[in-house]
Amino acid sequence: SRQFTRPLNDLANQFNTLLSAVAGAERVFDILDEEIESKDEKNALILQKVKGEVEFKNVSFSYEEEGNTIRNVSFHVSPGETVALVGPTGAGKTTIINLVSRFYDTDEGSILIDHKELKQIKRASLRHHMGFVLQDTYLFQGTIRDNIRYGNLEASDEEIENAAKLANAHSFIMKMPNKYDTMINQDGSGISQGQKQLLSIARAFLPNPSILILDEATSSIDTITEMKIQEALKRLMKDRTCFVIAHRLNTIQQADQILVLEDGQVIENGTHDELLEKRGFYHGLFHSQLKQEIV
Ligand code: ADP
Repeated sequence: SRQFTRPLNDLANQFNTLLSAVAGAERVFDILDEEIESKDEKNALILQKVKGEVEFKNVSFSYEEEGNTIRNVSFHVSPGETVALVGPTGAGKTTIINLVSRFYDTDEGSILIDHKELKQIKRASLRHHMGFVLQDTYLFQGTIRDNIRYGNLEASDEEIENAAKLANAHSFIMKMPNKYDTMINQDGSGISQGQKQLLSIARAFLPNPSILILDEATSSIDTITEMKIQEALKRLMKDRTCFVIAHRLNTIQQADQILVLEDGQVIENGTHDELLEKRGFYHGLFHSQLKQEIV
């Protein structure tokens, strides 16, 4: 389904740029932090704990001067809920995620996290509470251990191993020549696409994020690895607020809330059953595409 499979997108680019800029060098990390902080408001808030309540109130945004990519979007997410973002390519799914992660600021309206204005929260503090599992896993030249540690630079070896176990990655790592000390290349040669996904899940466990951003992979992965990925994701998503750019019907069906986007607007909002009953856009989508193509 062309409409639902979008390869590398803006979000992955943003996130990977953020990561590659900090790869391996703490000095660079400091510089980046400074840069991030300089964009923060004076007296910006530092969040100690996040429950994960997210609210969009009449949010509009555009990347350019003219036009509106996101138009007057409002929705509410309770802590621990999973939200599936659905809609054709270009509808604004990635942009919603870019806004939640504050890679961009809203032009109008507001985004609240635990009732606090996102714009008033220190960016670095916000990111501490967020985890990302994207289609295109960013890996750098280094050991498997260091690649996982990326999720939280202060994590101990024990915490890294524990995260790998939760992510169903431990067993394949233990079969590598030097186990956790095995070097991997930036292009990820030597490990499979599915194993890359498991590493990125392990990485996402480390900061114990309250808010999780998931861009479901669409590349074909063997059935056994796919099952491992699904099981690990289920574990990762439990008790966290999740935003999923969903490509699998199963994920969409199980979401607490589906936001159907079209042309930058939320045109329908509800559970799978509620939306089917409405016999609107989602109903049509389900019968024309989802059912056949996204399984
Ligand atoms: P989706 O994730 O649903 O496919 P996007 O949020 O990526 O949609 O895109 C929404 C609209 O914003 C599209 O028209 C797209 O071309 C545009 N867009 C996305 N990223 C940028 C960007 N960095 N600069 C300008 N326009 C962009």
